[in-house]
Amino acid sequence: MSVEEDVMRIQKKLNKMTSEDGSGQEQALDLLKELQTLNINLEVLTKTRIGMTVNALRKSSKDDEVISLSKTLIKNWKKFLSGTNSSEKSSSSSSSKPKKEKEDKSTREDKDRDRERNLPKQFPASSNTTDSVRLKCREMLAVAINTDSKPEDFDGCASAEELAEELEEAIFSEFKNTDMRYKNRVRSRIANLKDIKNPTLRTNFRIGAITASRLAVMTAEEMANDEVKQLRERFLKESINDAQLATAQGTKTDMLKCGKCKKRNCTYNQLQTRSSDEPMTTFVLCNECGNRWKFC
Ligand SMILES: [Zn+2]
Repeated sequence: MSVEEDVMRIQKKLNKMTSEDGSGQEQALDLLKELQTLNINLEVLTKTRIGMTVNALRKSSKDDEVISLSKTLIKNWKKFLSGTNSSEKSSSSSSSKPKKEKEDKSTREDKDRDRERNLPKQFPASSNTTDSVRLKCREMLAVAINTDSKPEDFDGCASAEELAEELEEAIFSEFKNTDMRYKNRVRSRIANLKDIKNPTLRTNFRIGAITASRLAVMTAEEMANDEVKQLRERFLKESINDAQLATAQGTKTDMLKCGKCKKRNCTYNQLQTRSSDEPMTTFVLCNECGNRWKFC
């Protein structure tokens, strides 16, 4: 059996465990230990995307040993990936004497650490990819999502970095690589999210009315106009209807997604906070975790 087949066999079992709500993970530790013994190379890592599987396990597991071994494995693979990348780069620029190689390695590790520090603050540390193209795309998407907004505008919503990661993940899972089609897809999302004349797309995505998986496949026309506006209109209409029966408790909705607990069980109130020709401010309360935020 090849290493790849071994990894895929283990991956299949792990996937089953993570899909079952974190139960039945007794075997997880053994499987991870088995993974640790395999000689997994770059090709196997990229082909199987076992890193994501282990990361999903890490997230769903309640077992300290499983979590810590998952972290170790992911850390080792990351090191391995970044090491491979920069050795390709450095081979073109300098001939590799053994002594020089040692120096290269330590500066490379410094660089990696610096890069991690330079990522936006809220970028999840457990970001499930080490592919530099994908990370760059996430970064650019996050910037686009943040277009024209002050940090306090979406206080309590999912962060731009989180949403960028979800969106990039959704796009990547369709193409399974970072070829031209992937890049074009990312590029068109960025262009539309950045569009100053289309704030509703950004807002709808930010508040969860458009999900990452939906935005990942929307056409240019859909992003530019109708669907986005309709959602907005549906949302406004819902609030107007409810305003007529206004209750002190506010209006319940599943159109908004809590940035903290990711559930769609919110209550909102809309208030005209400034002059009457300005848009109303919507105050949202998550009924699951108590998170509060507002948006216009
Ligand atoms: Zn919540």
